[in-house]
Amino acid sequence: MTIKTILSQKGDDVITIAPDASLAKAAQMLAEHRIGALIVTDSDKRVGGIISERDIVRAVAAGGAAALDQRVQEVMTHKVVTCNTAVGVAEIMEKMTAGKFRHVPVVELGRLVGIISIGDVVKAQLDEYEGEIETLHTRVEKG
Ligand code: AMP
Repeated sequence: MTIKTILSQKGDDVITIAPDASLAKAAQMLAEHRIGALIVTDSDKRVGGIISERDIVRAVAAGGAAALDQRVQEVMTHKVVTCNTAVGVAEIMEKMTAGKFRHVPVVELGRLVGIISIGDVVKAQLDEYEGEIETLHTRVEKG
């Protein structure tokens, strides 16, 4: 299964935040949308970074509540691992495991077109296994 298939099922909605927004704002958006990471974009929809709940926890652990006044760009990961829509799910799973992160923005021609989380990857794998099991059951029943 490719990323294109996953996005066609879950949609291409991506919650983004500006680099100069505060960490308090980022935390508020994560809670409001019940997600674990925000993609940091410029006005042109280009990916400039990613900020996850872990980055905020780390900043608060280091600086206390005052850290919530820091800008997103001070705390975000600047070097983001992205993928395109043609990539297979297994490859994304490998990237997530190797890099120890749970989110991969999907980029086409330099523009953000979706996001894949580890939850999406696990769901895609389960759907594939279930499909295979169903096919095997049908074959066995037909003898
Ligand atoms: P996560 O597991 O997504 O909550 O992120 C864990 C750490 O990896 C945080 O420091 C994130 O900023 C960073 N991170 C998340 N996704 C990516 C990605 N696609 N590329 C690079 N770093 C990432």
